[in-house]
Amino acid sequence: MLINGQCHCGNIRFVLDWQPDPTEIPARACDCTFCTKHGGVWTSNPHGRLEVRIENPALVSKYAFGTETAEFHTCARCGVVPVVTSRIEDRIYAVVNVNTFDNVDPALIRRASASFDREQAGSRLARRKRNWIGNVEFVRSVAT
Ligand SMILES: [Zn+2]
Repeated sequence: MLINGQCHCGNIRFVLDWQPDPTEIPARACDCTFCTKHGGVWTSNPHGRLEVRIENPALVSKYAFGTETAEFHTCARCGVVPVVTSRIEDRIYAVVNVNTFDNVDPALIRRASASFDREQAGSRLARRKRNWIGNVEFVRSVAT
């Protein structure tokens, strides 16, 4: 399944290749203060392949807080956060926000709340390596 998503204005778009076709998509409504304020509900498939297309990089704000091990890619034009990345041992891992999906039946998405506040930094990175999308590419897209 090819999942298309984007911020509200289309500056940040992504395609997530999820194989085989999912019968359900587990999504984590993170309860950290940033995700609560932004409505961040995240999913990832460690075997998936993610391509992120940025139209105007000057209009992407990369925000980090807390342990500063993750970057929230926020569209500076419309305020939506489609992607979070974490660089671990020179590899980029990512999760995507199910609220920014365009072509997915909402009935496929299984939302659950998640709390990572108490997690130690080491186990946090190990979890991301295990669960986050490990094949991530950022490309500069040309406006059409
Ligand atoms: Zn936008």
